[in-house]
Amino acid sequence: MSALELVSVAVATPLYRLFDYLAPAAMHARLQPGVRVRVPFGKRTVVGVVVEPPRSSSPGDFKYRPPLALLDETPLLSADLLELLRWAAQYYQYPLGRVIEAALPGPLRRGNAARDSSPVWVRLSVAGTTAKPPSRAHRLLGLLDELAQGPRPDDALDSGTLRKARDKGWIEDCHAPPAASGIAADAPQPSAAQCDVLRELRAARGFTVSLLEGVTGSGKTEIYLQVAADALSRSQQALILAPEIGLTPQLVSRFEARFPGRVAPFHSGMSESQRAQSWLAARDGRADIVIGTRSAVFVPFRQLGIVVVDEEHDASYKQQEGFRYSARDTAVFRAQQWKAPVILGSATPSLETLANGRAGRYRHLRLPQRVHRTAPPRIDLVDARGQAMSHGLTSSLLATTEKHLSAGGQVLLFINRRGFAPALLCRECGWVAPCKRCDARMTLHRSRSRLICHHCGYETVVPQQCGKCQAHALAPVGQGTERVEDALRERFPNHRVERFDSDRVRRAGELERLLRDVASGDIHILVGTQMLAKGHDFAGLSMVGIVSVDQALFGVDFRALERMGQLVVQVAGRAGRGTEAGEVLLQTHEPQHPKLRTLVEHGYGAFADELLAERVGSGLPPASHLALLRAESLDAAAAMRFLHDAKAGLKAQAGARRGVAALGPVAAPMERRAGRWRAQLLLQAEKRAPLQRALSAWVPGLGDLPSARKVRWSIDVDPVDL
Ligand code: ADP
Ligand code: ZN
Ligand code: ZN
Repeated sequence: MSALELVSVAVATPLYRLFDYLAPAAMHARLQPGVRVRVPFGKRTVVGVVVEPPRSSSPGDFKYRPPLALLDETPLLSADLLELLRWAAQYYQYPLGRVIEAALPGPLRRGNAARDSSPVWVRLSVAGTTAKPPSRAHRLLGLLDELAQGPRPDDALDSGTLRKARDKGWIEDCHAPPAASGIAADAPQPSAAQCDVLRELRAARGFTVSLLEGVTGSGKTEIYLQVAADALSRSQQALILAPEIGLTPQLVSRFEARFPGRVAPFHSGMSESQRAQSWLAARDGRADIVIGTRSAVFVPFRQLGIVVVDEEHDASYKQQEGFRYSARDTAVFRAQQWKAPVILGSATPSLETLANGRAGRYRHLRLPQRVHRTAPPRIDLVDARGQAMSHGLTSSLLATTEKHLSAGGQVLLFINRRGFAPALLCRECGWVAPCKRCDARMTLHRSRSRLICHHCGYETVVPQQCGKCQAHALAPVGQGTERVEDALRERFPNHRVERFDSDRVRRAGELERLLRDVASGDIHILVGTQMLAKGHDFAGLSMVGIVSVDQALFGVDFRALERMGQLVVQVAGRAGRGTEAGEVLLQTHEPQHPKLRTLVEHGYGAFADELLAERVGSGLPPASHLALLRAESLDAAAAMRFLHDAKAGLKAQAGARRGVAALGPVAAPMERRAGRWRAQLLLQAEKRAPLQRALSAWVPGLGDLPSARKVRWSIDVDPVDL
């Protein structure tokens, strides 16, 4: 029997393996790594990606099938993109087919042709300029009016009306007008501090990682714009990552203003086909700059010259489900692949990045001052103990608010909790309304008259009676944004109070509208969650009040304090008007808490150093490397059983697990969530290499354990919370 020609294909399944198909002679030469194929898979047909060139194999009993169709003439995934995805699959221990699925925009994932479907431009024909449609044909009239002003892309116009106008010969296709393209000339002269940073960045050759530390307003974005311009002048492309672009449109608009016609955005606020267009434009070199959120780190480039990760500490860079990758860390790998510099920017760097800076692996560059405003605001602690409180607000916080309002300033009150109150308590017997599916309390949302679980989304009507003693004595305890909003409306009836959280602001457009009202001075008091902490520039804000961070001081998560410090500094950074430093009050019942004191008295750097020393003491990241195996099941014992079996499996691999400790399994911090019992096993290693070795030997086989059948499990490498 003659040898078989086989080709390995990645298919999106939970299995940690590739699948072999016959490579028919007719396709053979074109079955190159990176091309998509439609293949039979069990009883289904799926789209897969060829990851290795065909190879000869001796025939066996297995009856291989050929692909049903070849979907690309040339590879859709370039060699470097495939290398990146293979690295990510290996590092994050996730099946390659699923990694590819997560990295491809929807239409490409589903096998659609990879062609440029940019809009066709239309203009009035000669007949169209003198056309006289009946006066009741409003849409046609509107279309003719619009086109009378110049050509338009057809995807911006109503297709039915276009068809009618085309049938009548009133419009015709035309070329897109040449896009304004280049670099706008209005870049400001860099400040002395910016010059220093730019000199350092420009002196670097090849792959380097730079931490750019600077408070909001210190001119970091201007640095990004300058280094992007450098890359463009060398005919290279730039990748700019930011958290939540949909909520911070300023970043994109600044790049678009500086580099007209050369920017391709890539984020979840766009349609799938728009994202596919950006993806292809970057791959083919038609877009010079990609600005996007997490998943933009997988956009392919023709010639990548610089990578920027803005707000690198932001937790949203870590995907929390499915393919649990860190876009920041993947961005560093990408830069290395392209021998390009990467800049990690933040006012409050993550401890990981700071530790790399302290160890000399990353360069640590600083922009110590704000460009326009003078000193960054000082944070004053308000001792809430023994003070009269009204809906969680101390009288001194209210008095200072009043002072700023009457001086014509705007005030931001930050509270990191949605809803009216985080608990509904019976004053007779102490019962607290629980979620019936989680180990958690229900949050009262009074504006919607619902109790809502913030962990699983379960909702009920607000009960009138205690669930235990039936007393009519239920009272809200604690406060969320709604309650603070209500309290302020009552206290300051002549001022406009608006709430900013994900219940109130659901779309980017809504946020922009509210932000315009803030800018025009119509809104005087802003109450909100971390939605207000980043990106926005509030020119008239003279005071920031932080209603409570006490919860984080005693949080179970080892990163709780780090996050608290970052949030406080970010929120405080919103204060200040013109050249006046703003006033920042942080209300707390723990004014003596040593970490809080370090933060407000010595700043984020000293605070971070203390936390780093503690992490070394307790062997937590960045002093160690972690991976977390999570399991959940409907049956209380099954998750634990699986984790015990998994641990035994790891122990059996004596060679592979050297240098790796397995801790647990233990119940998850919230043992029951959405009706499932949850448990976890923690792997800890001082060095990354042994951890990676152990994971590679262990994870792919976990699904074969008999006890795996009754659980949902996932592995999380470099988890952000435990
Ligand atoms: P960050 O990204 O650190 O918040 P930005 O780059 O947005 O800081 O700068 C803050 C403000 O200062 C922006 O309005 C920006 O346009 C302006 N700015 C930055 N650098 C300069 C400069 N060299 N000269 C004048 N204005 C500048
Ligand atoms: Zn719940
Ligand atoms: Zn009761």
